[in-house]
Amino acid sequence: MSEETFINKVIKGIGVSSGITSGKVYLLERGRVAIAKRRIREEHVEREIQRFRHSTKSAVEELNDIKGAISDDEIRKHAFIIDAHMLILQDALFLNDVVDTIRTEKINAEWALDIVVSKFLAGFEKVDDAYLRERGQDIKYIYNRLIRIMVKGKESAIDAKGIKGKVIIVAHDLSPADTIQLNLNRISGFTTDVGGRTSHTSIVARALEIPAVVGVGNIVSLVKNNDTLIVDGDDGIVIINPTKEVRKDYVAKQLRLKTLKREFLRIAKLKSETRDGFQLKVGANIELLAEMELVERYGASGIGLYRTEYLYLSRKTLPTENDHYHVYRKLAENNSLSYITVRTLDIGGDKFVSHIEMPKEINPAMGLRAIRLCIKETGLFKAQLMGILRASAYGPLRILVPMVSGIDEVRTAKAILKECMDELKQKKIRFNEGIKIGVMIEVPSACMISDILAKEVDFFSIGTNDLIQYSLAIDRVNEYVSYLYEPLHPGVLRLIKQTVENAHANKIEVGLCGEMAGEPLYTPMLLGLELDELSMNAYAIPRVKKIIRGLDQSHCKELLAEALIKDSAKEAEYMLRKEMGNLFPDDFIQCYEE
Ligand code: PEP
Ligand code: MG
Repeated sequence: MSEETFINKVIKGIGVSSGITSGKVYLLERGRVAIAKRRIREEHVEREIQRFRHSTKSAVEELNDIKGAISDDEIRKHAFIIDAHMLILQDALFLNDVVDTIRTEKINAEWALDIVVSKFLAGFEKVDDAYLRERGQDIKYIYNRLIRIMVKGKESAIDAKGIKGKVIIVAHDLSPADTIQLNLNRISGFTTDVGGRTSHTSIVARALEIPAVVGVGNIVSLVKNNDTLIVDGDDGIVIINPTKEVRKDYVAKQLRLKTLKREFLRIAKLKSETRDGFQLKVGANIELLAEMELVERYGASGIGLYRTEYLYLSRKTLPTENDHYHVYRKLAENNSLSYITVRTLDIGGDKFVSHIEMPKEINPAMGLRAIRLCIKETGLFKAQLMGILRASAYGPLRILVPMVSGIDEVRTAKAILKECMDELKQKKIRFNEGIKIGVMIEVPSACMISDILAKEVDFFSIGTNDLIQYSLAIDRVNEYVSYLYEPLHPGVLRLIKQTVENAHANKIEVGLCGEMAGEPLYTPMLLGLELDELSMNAYAIPRVKKIIRGLDQSHCKELLAEALIKDSAKEAEYMLRKEMGNLFPDDFIQCYEE
């Protein structure tokens, strides 16, 4: 807690949930509980094991109470995260690991838990992919709860009764259980020292529409209870004790955003069609079933990319065919979407799961990744394909195979899929025999042979995140070369163009599901390229739809032709910014000639 009172201090973090709010600080200072590490005598082993088992039982009870107290339907939808935490707390492998450590090492329960959790987290910390790395956070929340129960008897809950008016929670970190407990009428936002966009806490905040800024670094040490804060979840800014003038500016911004949001939700329901009648599908990229509700609200017509890597996490064993089936069936049974694209496992490279044995590779981005791994580990692949096929009886599922670099991979994947289909037929299990299979076009060679690939599959989805990485030879997780990550690079635009032309010449649809799809500045390029679908994170949909509806495709084709003859991405971007600034002065900053 700070001794000093700051005035108008602006701190930058990561805006993870849109909106602006202001209120009094409620400092949730749980602090770190120091754990004693003790060796114990043989006769105390059973007592320690009981202490540990008792703490897991109490933790489950606490979480059950939190769940039981949820009165709001909107919040109840997110209680599955609490369920996931409860499952880990009851997971036999996890419990036995700690119990065995107490027994074999003859150490106290806190120390044993610390060893088991550290081992687990070490696996997560090696991961470059932010989303997967964040999953280790769930284990930390459980660990902290158990340690507090063992040391203090219980986890300290949020209790902001003593503070008048609206409250903003300031904490080192918040667990999803904390976020679910936030009383929406009183707590209007939160900000934390740590965290990232893909943490569950951030996902819950977005779903509950609570403005939030995380990863602020040291906010806990800069504020005290009753300081006033502004939390700007759009720009990722926190202001401590703003002056009257600043507060006035923010009230105006808040009003503008509210109007904009209403407008976005209105646009979300409208057709994605240009002024001159070119229609394309706008889909959503998701990673969790819980995101489905957002997908509908923000106006997606389908799921262009369901990343299934999350299914392989927060568990110690591989998901079985049944595990896959149950999740995909839930997806499939949603009846407001016209297509749901399930991408098969894309592990390897920058994404990694501790319980899949992977070789140590010097260059994992070009190593045993995605379809290459699935073809090698057919058991793993088949379990997923069987799950998708069985669920396909219930809704419009399609299969998307990532990281294809040549035709043989596609033919092998299709042969394995056929084996799965034959097996299901033999067992007389229903599935959609006409299920569509597509490939991700994200390796330059796939663009170059897209005429050949198009004859083998039902659709393409261009993954520009990887396509840019591989075509421009820049590691997508290396900050030193991130300045070279240029979607408008003429090389990238030419590769996309070639792919779309080959898809259409062979009468198959082609979508684009990299981050580029959700960036409104690039929308005219993608319309000019005549893509059939753009798939993006749900929040981006209304903004992109607004731009689509304000453009003529004929003009986009002219802009694309102009970009394609520019020498560099910078020149193309300048041209585009200038044009978009003129066409949409409210959405793009005007760009003037020097
Ligand atoms: C891509 O590469 O563009 C893509 C959408 O897939 P991911 O980001 O999961 O690699
Ligand atoms: Mg990819």
